[in-house]
Amino acid sequence: MTTELSILSTLTERNALAPIQTLIPEVQSDKSAKKALPPNYVQKTVTIVGIKRTTARFLPVSHEGDSNETYVDKVEVLENSRAEFIARKLKAIERREHMRLFRSLTEQERGGVWKDHFKTWFGRPCEIPNELCTLCWNDSLFGSLETDKVKAATFSRIRYFDTYSVEPAEDCIARLGSEEGIAVGNTVAENLSKARGDSSLHYYEYVKPDTHFPFITVIENATLLDIVGLLNAISAADARGYGKYSASSGKFDTEVLAVSTGVPRFSVLTMLEWAKEDDRPSAQGLDRIRDAFKPDAPVSIRARFEDNVRGEAGTLWGPQSDGLRGLLRREFESYVAALDHSKA
Ligand SMILES: [Zn+2]
Repeated sequence: MTTELSILSTLTERNALAPIQTLIPEVQSDKSAKKALPPNYVQKTVTIVGIKRTTARFLPVSHEGDSNETYVDKVEVLENSRAEFIARKLKAIERREHMRLFRSLTEQERGGVWKDHFKTWFGRPCEIPNELCTLCWNDSLFGSLETDKVKAATFSRIRYFDTYSVEPAEDCIARLGSEEGIAVGNTVAENLSKARGDSSLHYYEYVKPDTHFPFITVIENATLLDIVGLLNAISAADARGYGKYSASSGKFDTEVLAVSTGVPRFSVLTMLEWAKEDDRPSAQGLDRIRDAFKPDAPVSIRARFEDNVRGEAGTLWGPQSDGLRGLLRREFESYVAALDHSKA
């Protein structure tokens, strides 16, 4: 059991997190008197590492398919064809969940309708993708552009990486020739007055449940609110679904392996290599990946995080980070208090 105090001291020692004030818009010093997020050039990086496991059929699709056939993304990595889960999709879904979370926290904290509070704080109700405000927490983390006239933009502070299934495609994808075969559904445009034929059916491959994708997400100039907000957004995204047809598929559960104030000295590929090297009869080498993130892991196999500025990274290993999600309400309250103060 890791206490809140030890969680916080691991992350905040040596001043490794950005203060909440970096999320509060300020009036710019030029004549426009326009508000903007304060420039933030301090090197404070937080890395979240974990494994996402499919709990339902998953359709990672980033290309146009034939009209009534869908093939999941696959790529040859480390001598195996694997299912591919691209960074852009991960980011888009987590961003949307983060915004939903942000809105409902606003209503819980301040009552009323989120749009009214957003208007007061940011000048407009921030809506994805064409009505972004460029000033709010979500925009600050995921990046933003005023799309009507490009007058303001903020860079994304969050970095996602493409990831690939630990399991080879021949084991984890249901498709023509696999044991399960390709899946068959109805097309939306089916003409019910006609006899059913090929055109009324939709054929699709899918990634099977119990397939694992290691992930690494890096946040620059991270506040504690960014970290706990993202962890909560990931849980919500897992329940709502990633990928194509996410209303009925693409559900996950996520195991967080580390939260660190350093940058990773390993990649998604390294994690797949660890799994590949594992010669124990464990499930697909997943235990070897987990071993690297155990608090008592020997240095020879431990995942390395580096903080070149502060000397040593503060890292919560495995379940040590479990208490972080529970800090959301408290961190959000301090954000909202600072926003209200900036209006006064
Ligand atoms: Zn916004």
